[in-house]
Amino acid sequence: MDDCIFCKIISGQIPSFKIYEDQNYLAFLDINPINPGHTLLIPKTHYRWVYDIPAQSEIWPLATKIGQDLKQKLNADYFTYITAGMEVPHAHIHIVPRFQNDKMTGMLDQFRINSTIQEVESVYNKLK
Ligand code: AMP
Ligand code: ZN
Repeated sequence: MDDCIFCKIISGQIPSFKIYEDQNYLAFLDINPINPGHTLLIPKTHYRWVYDIPAQSEIWPLATKIGQDLKQKLNADYFTYITAGMEVPHAHIHIVPRFQNDKMTGMLDQFRINSTIQEVESVYNKLK
């Protein structure tokens, strides 16, 4: 896709700190990291959302492998995935090494909608 920043990284028009590459996937360091080693794993084909990627059974094990590698090399306590996609419209999995006392704790709190139990149940009734 022409004006996609991650497609430009794939084609080499924009530089990146690549940490993994194969025929179909690329992983590189996030330029504005949450923690040291914060990595973005992307398919080389442009898809909008992570769930649009046909090869789900390829990308998630690869994300886990990269996460384990980051954890070991950076001596992290664990790692988490985030699939946001609010800023860059090219499917990407954030792989974030986590450390005790890092600043990511409570990250979801800013989004909570303070539902009552009745509101939660009403959604449940649509889903069950
Ligand atoms: P989001 O679309 O909200 O999942 O976030 C996109 C992520 O891409 C952000 O964490 C940015 O810091 C990161 N990002 C944007 N441009 C670049 C770039 N040129 N190289 C590396 N990371 C980038
Ligand atoms: Zn793209």
